[in-house]
Amino acid sequence: MGKPTGFKEFDRKKVPWRLPVVRINDYDEIYTEPKVDQLRQQGARCMDCGVPFCQSKTGCPIENLIPEWNDLVYNNRWKEAIDRLHKTNNFPEFTGRTCPAPCEGACVLGINEPAVTIKNIENAIVDRAWEEGWIVPEPPTERTGKKVAIVGSGPSGLTAADQLNRAGHLVTVYERADRLGGLLQYGIPNMKLSKAAVQRRIDKMTAEGIRFITGANIGQNVDPQELIDSFDAVLLACGATKARDLPADGREAKGIHFAMDFLTSNTKQRVHGDSLNGEFISAEGKDVIVIGGGDTGTDCIATSLRHGCRSLVNFELLPCPPVDRAPDNPWPEWPKIFRVDYGHEEATAKFGRDPREYQILTKQFLADDQGRLRGVQTIEVRWVKDDSGNWKMIEVEGSKKDWPAQLILLAMGFVGPEAYLAESLGIQLDNRSNFAAQHGPFATSIPGVFAAGDCRRGQSLVVWAINEGRGAARAIDTYLMGSSHLPAPGISLGTAVAV
Ligand SMILES: Cc1cc2nc3c(=O)[nH]c(=O)nc-3n(C[C@H](O)[C@H](O)[C@H](O)COP(=O)(O)OP(=O)(O)OC[C@H]3O[C@@H](n4cnc5c(N)ncnc54)[C@H](O)[C@@H]3O)c2cc1C
Ligand code: SF4
Repeated sequence: MGKPTGFKEFDRKKVPWRLPVVRINDYDEIYTEPKVDQLRQQGARCMDCGVPFCQSKTGCPIENLIPEWNDLVYNNRWKEAIDRLHKTNNFPEFTGRTCPAPCEGACVLGINEPAVTIKNIENAIVDRAWEEGWIVPEPPTERTGKKVAIVGSGPSGLTAADQLNRAGHLVTVYERADRLGGLLQYGIPNMKLSKAAVQRRIDKMTAEGIRFITGANIGQNVDPQELIDSFDAVLLACGATKARDLPADGREAKGIHFAMDFLTSNTKQRVHGDSLNGEFISAEGKDVIVIGGGDTGTDCIATSLRHGCRSLVNFELLPCPPVDRAPDNPWPEWPKIFRVDYGHEEATAKFGRDPREYQILTKQFLADDQGRLRGVQTIEVRWVKDDSGNWKMIEVEGSKKDWPAQLILLAMGFVGPEAYLAESLGIQLDNRSNFAAQHGPFATSIPGVFAAGDCRRGQSLVVWAINEGRGAARAIDTYLMGSSHLPAPGISLGTAVAV
């Protein structure tokens, strides 16, 4: 413990984001350069608790050694801090930028004071390590001769590839998209996680001997049986990419898009400079409505603002969460409270009000006589408990309303992995249409084929994808070699964070 009285001396101070009115004019990351003294003070606030809830139970899903690196940062021992951080986290710059930080919700200081800024410290450690040149390719010294194919290059696939390569196996990652990274590349916008940061890791992994093949759509242009026949093990890490639709009347109107199509086209054109031959989805000059909240909704808000939309509204079906924890949501659970994310802050700066409208149900999309979207009709709803104590949604009579919109973005989550891969392999699904495999063995119904990440657990978080990638790598290593020295990630209680 760096400074025993630190938590009494220093207040929580987050590393600020760039000013909203400035940052909405570009696609650069929203973060500012952290001040070293401020980070050290935050590290000093850590109480090095006997039971560090931040790194276990409802806290960090990869059991990051948080109190240890808080102490190292306070003592200015940054090189040792990154070594400790890399013991549990392959990609701290991904979580340091994108994680909702359940660790902070479980920080013991958070019982009666604002929590330690754990996520900021994590991000600063890894950014410094890259700047100092401490992160360099470290190819394995010995090869086992075993070959593993990984389908999908999102955080779960990348993590598993990293771990399996360290164990000496020859890893090939197959990705159907034209660029690598999964939702780190085409999902989470550049403002939150720069694509240069994603590429930097991929370059390092390539230098360590991992092979990446893009444009390989397993089950479409590559027969999955080929992979099973020519590799010693196969890991499916293909995400839960099937978007939830909103089949209301008028859904066919031109101008309604899935969030992922909007965000992907934006990253391709505005960040990478690709020419999309008229397929770019623009919000410029339009009244935009984003249906659905969570990270995806926020990213659509932030991107629409950067396009120069005319107005912006975000519909949420649920009520506005409370400002403080409700009695049935005690510490150290993930706090289900009202939060202002970067997109909300930016919309407020631009339009003078938070864009979120709560308890709104979409009834009908409205089109003009050319089939182009002109608006949407909604009704207010309320949530009440029925006789058996279950929540029930009821419509508020007389609350129908028409909203103008020329662009509607559907950000209502995902319903599982796309069916074609499971069908072509004949793989067993669970009752939520994910690939059936248990956390721990990660084995599917087909011998030698494993599953990890969102395609196994359902739509989740980057940090959980890293947890699963590490776990699946250990399971595969054990399958191939009879035992494994790769670490097993913990199974914490998990978080219910919307994306
Ligand atoms: C818009 C958006 C914003 C998000 N923001 C956050 C955030 O801020 N913080 C956070 O923690 N989480 C966030 N998430 C969730 C997080 O990104 C996911 O939980 C995580 O990326 C899942 O990782 P994965 O590796 O399992 O799958 P993915 O990242 O989905 O990667 C799967 C990859 O597999 C590829 N693939 C699929 N099928 C095939 C096939 N048949 N052949 C070859 N390749 C295939 C896909 O193209 C994709 O590249 C967000 C999600 C979205 C959609
Ligand atoms: S990965 Fe997430 S939960 Fe774990 S320490 Fe980092 S911010 Fe906290």
